[in-house]
Amino acid sequence: VPALEAAGLRHSYGGGRMALEDAAFTVMPGHFTCLLGPNGAGKSTLFALATGLLRPTAGHVRIHGHDIALEPGKALARMGVVFQQPTLDLDLTVMQNLRYFAALHGIGRREANRRIEAELVRLSLYERAGEKVRALNGGHRRRAEIARALLHRPSLLLLDEPTVGLDIPARRTLIRHVHALCAGDGTGDDGDRIAVLWATHLIDEIDPATDHVVVLHRGRVRASGAAPAVSAAA
Ligand code: ADP
Ligand code: ADP
Repeated sequence: VPALEAAGLRHSYGGGRMALEDAAFTVMPGHFTCLLGPNGAGKSTLFALATGLLRPTAGHVRIHGHDIALEPGKALARMGVVFQQPTLDLDLTVMQNLRYFAALHGIGRREANRRIEAELVRLSLYERAGEKVRALNGGHRRRAEIARALLHRPSLLLLDEPTVGLDIPARRTLIRHVHALCAGDGTGDDGDRIAVLWATHLIDEIDPATDHVVVLHRGRVRASGAAPAVSAAA
């Protein structure tokens, strides 16, 4: 079963052209899939549909077989999301933020501490745990958002333009960390690899470790396949 499967996906905000038109693609378990498309291609609309914030005009998104519109609880339990808008409180420390979000997920205190420590270590943020989010640079903030998105141990991570506002070294570092999540070198008890859907408008964020590329243009999937073939076509 794919980690994410979009089929026949259409969305109209009303008015002019469709934001998404018959989009179909899959994100396979443990794969790093890059959703590549210029501004206005429909990437954010796709994220809103995949997370249940919007209902599709037609088609469906399934997360590990669960339709997000029909079984949102089951689908959301398997999914972590890093939206473009930050979710962490700037005036709380990284640790305070993560404890708060762990509590929202109903994770007990001891288990929360264990998971938070593990995520901070694998995202190279352990030394920042006691700092206010406001004091972190952009790259560290993004990694703290990723730690937040992983607390409930999802097997699929969606990131909407996670490198916006970062300089090139910070971008490379962020990509490297997310590829490492996919490669399953993390601390997950069951060794499960995390599938990633990484949305970007920057073709140079496709690198040799990218398993799959989906090219979105004007609401349609223009190409889908292994990274070298698709980036040559894009
Ligand atoms: P088609 O639509 O003809 O299946 P694709 O390029 O989407 O063309 O798929 C080509 C091959 O890649 C197929 O074997 C398919 O199972 C596989 N595939 C499709 N999507 C993914 C993905 N996200 N990750 C890995 N393999 C995929
Ligand atoms: P991307 O994230 O790739 O930049 P979007 O999903 O934001 O693309 O946009 C896809 C299309 O939908 C664009 O034509 C955009 O103008 C339109 N759109 C996005 N959000 C809204 C909205 N809330 N209301 C009306 N149109 C929208």
